[in-house]
Amino acid sequence: MSKTVAFSKHSVNVFFHILTRCNLRCSHCYINPDQHGRETLSFDTVSAWLNLFVSKTRDANLILLGGEPTLHPDLARIIKTARAMGYGSITVDTNGYLFHDILTKIAPKDLDFISFSLDGATPGTNDAIRGKGCYENCVAGIRQATEKGFQTSLIYTVSNENIHELHQMPPLLAQLGVDRFFIQVIGIRGNSREKVAGIVERPSKRQPKLQPKLQVDRNTWMTLIPKVADQVADMGITVTYPKVFLENTEPFECAGNVAENYFIFPNGRVYRCPLCEDYPLHSLEIVNDQLVSRPKINEQDLFALSIPEGCVINKLVQPANLSFRSDGTPEYQIACCLLKEEVSARS
Ligand code: SF4
Ligand code: SF4
Repeated sequence: MSKTVAFSKHSVNVFFHILTRCNLRCSHCYINPDQHGRETLSFDTVSAWLNLFVSKTRDANLILLGGEPTLHPDLARIIKTARAMGYGSITVDTNGYLFHDILTKIAPKDLDFISFSLDGATPGTNDAIRGKGCYENCVAGIRQATEKGFQTSLIYTVSNENIHELHQMPPLLAQLGVDRFFIQVIGIRGNSREKVAGIVERPSKRQPKLQPKLQVDRNTWMTLIPKVADQVADMGITVTYPKVFLENTEPFECAGNVAENYFIFPNGRVYRCPLCEDYPLHSLEIVNDQLVSRPKINEQDLFALSIPEGCVINKLVQPANLSFRSDGTPEYQIACCLLKEEVSARS
């Protein structure tokens, strides 16, 4: 059985992009340096900013991201500092290349999870999205981490380009010894937004090419995702996936109004909603190492709006996942992108 994980009003989730630089050029990358900055934050700045959020609650969950966070020369020190500050949990999201011999500089006790991104069950599909050689490097990184006793998780960002291989993931996850599996839905932001607009040139072709719809339709999502999640849970691995679609009668809630999620970027922008990250709609900003509110109009003003389609910002930035009846009413609502279903491991 899956259960919807309600937004916790007590926990704080801190998604901290400590740099935007990356060794890869994934075709669905959401990092947008014009909006997020190009800086690699110094150790002192990262420490000062970590302090701003841990002081809100001792139970704050920290997720260190990039770009590729292992490219940061001080990542090990940052992890240990966050642990000493009292963060409730610490996760590092990586593409698997594990630069700076990071696994030799930290111990399993220093962090809760290393989360690897793999977007296909085979090199063919994964590398078409993430780049040549990424599959082998990521799998090697997972093996290295599990051998050293780190807890690992794997993130699979589902789109129409890789959903055909999702059913091949359960045996692969078991073989790799992964502890948790996160299915993500592709967001139409960053490179994906450009791709959908047909303005990205494919390296193999000279002409810009209009891409097909990236987000999978409701029927496919609602039949396939829970089925794969169940299979993975049967292998003793806990699975989390976004709910995405709600019946019109189900209650809709915007995490921006009821939960504490912070998405921090190296230029100081702090968003409460990831769907806003392509625009200067951030409601908070770090200025001189202090967290300050931004004047209207920002994402917070949009969270307050109520529409029959559910999430307001979804309707503004990725409306292709909506569907309407002939009388113009929506067939369903789009849930907050932060609303998750969790299927616990069954062993
Ligand atoms: S690994 Fe992550 S940050 Fe790097 S290009 Fe891919 S999606 Fe972007
Ligand atoms: S995804 Fe939609 S519902 Fe969720 S925080 Fe953003 S605006 Fe609110």
